[in-house]
Amino acid sequence: MKILLVEDEIELAEALAELMKKSKYSVDIANDGESGLDCAMSGIYDLIILDIMLPKMNGYEILKNIRAEKLSTPVMMLTAKSETEDKIKGLDYGADDYLTKPFETGEFLARVRALLRRKGEIEEDRLEHKDIILDKNAYELCCGKKSVKLGMKEYQIMEMLIANQHNIIPKERFIEKIWGFDSEAEYNNIEVYISFLRKKLAVIGAQVKIKATRGVGYYIDKED
Ligand code: CA
Repeated sequence: MKILLVEDEIELAEALAELMKKSKYSVDIANDGESGLDCAMSGIYDLIILDIMLPKMNGYEILKNIRAEKLSTPVMMLTAKSETEDKIKGLDYGADDYLTKPFETGEFLARVRALLRRKGEIEEDRLEHKDIILDKNAYELCCGKKSVKLGMKEYQIMEMLIANQHNIIPKERFIEKIWGFDSEAEYNNIEVYISFLRKKLAVIGAQVKIKATRGVGYYIDKED
């Protein structure tokens, strides 16, 4: 799950990002409204968290632009203001939730989870596909009684493959989601991790295979 956090208070942004990373979400931070909108428009995020008072462009304008482009990504607004009219304005523009600062970290994470669930994506402790189970808490890939530990990147790649089963995921999409836009990651990084995952699937005796469409990307399926 990839989350965009648009927040100009650097310390708060970093603290929230850290909190979400501990919950195994991958997080990008934008510190002003314009770069926040640019990132949001990429469409690669599962959730967007928007502060309202931001330099260059405020959170409402970002939200209006996102919804004008028919982007349905869930949006949570964050603000120091607690006035009801602001909440109504945010909800009118198409925000899915609203949290007033200061807030408890527990409540923040609970709302993040709720919004990701509402999006209809798989946000459970285990993801299953054919004969394999991806265990989110243990970071393990299991088949029958056998299991193998996954590294963070391997886990994220496997999660994307299972969540998009039968669809080819382009290599660029893995790079964007897992390494981020600014990363130096090259396409051969993804190839290396895919080869690790294939070995691990073989180790646990899984029927499921990661297949490649040459020059395009990868998808997961059971061997016919
Ligand atoms: Ca602010």
